[in-house]
Amino acid sequence: MQSHQFENQLTEQVMACHECDLLVEYPDLEPGSTAVCPRCDYVMTKRHKNAMERLLAFAVSGLIFLLMSAMYPFLSFSAGGQDRVVTLLQSIDVLADEQQVLLALLIMVVILIIPAAFLMGVVYVVGALKYWTILPPHGRRVLRFILALAPWSMVEIFLIGTMVSLIKIASLATISLGMSFWSYIAFTILMTLVLLHLDKVQVWSWVENSDVQTTV
Ligand SMILES: [Zn+2]
Repeated sequence: MQSHQFENQLTEQVMACHECDLLVEYPDLEPGSTAVCPRCDYVMTKRHKNAMERLLAFAVSGLIFLLMSAMYPFLSFSAGGQDRVVTLLQSIDVLADEQQVLLALLIMVVILIIPAAFLMGVVYVVGALKYWTILPPHGRRVLRFILALAPWSMVEIFLIGTMVSLIKIASLATISLGMSFWSYIAFTILMTLVLLHLDKVQVWSWVENSDVQTTV
């Protein structure tokens, strides 16, 4: 990180543009302001107002909705006089039964496990920084993990895929959407909000300003 070489300048920080590699000096940013690359207009960092509070609120609610979407019926459909209720986990189970174990595992990891780990990581690190102004044990490692996962979130792709399949099934059977479906939509919105408020530069600046820093 180039910023360490310029620490004696106190308020000035230097960052390379992600898009065009231009080294840009920028002052301490006020909440609500944005640093834009002067050469290519790339948004380098955005300081959200009440970013910690918002991140925590979105991440905690996202986790609750994710849990609800795993517990309640995802949808029920009736065709040819038969009714069937399907939960999110059952739909993964069905795939596993049809010898698609690898696909079933992949879907479970992508739509449930990674988002849950991501949101728990956000709550763990941001929660500790907010309420105790410390970086919790393994905080740096967790933070690097979260920031590496962020660009790979595929929850909205799953949702779009589900809706496309629903339109196809709708012509063959009567479908009613369950609590889990709506919970997953709420979770997708909250997950997107977390991703929008998670600014790499801002998060590391919280870490640098925290009282106790772990080494990993
Ligand atoms: Zn640039």
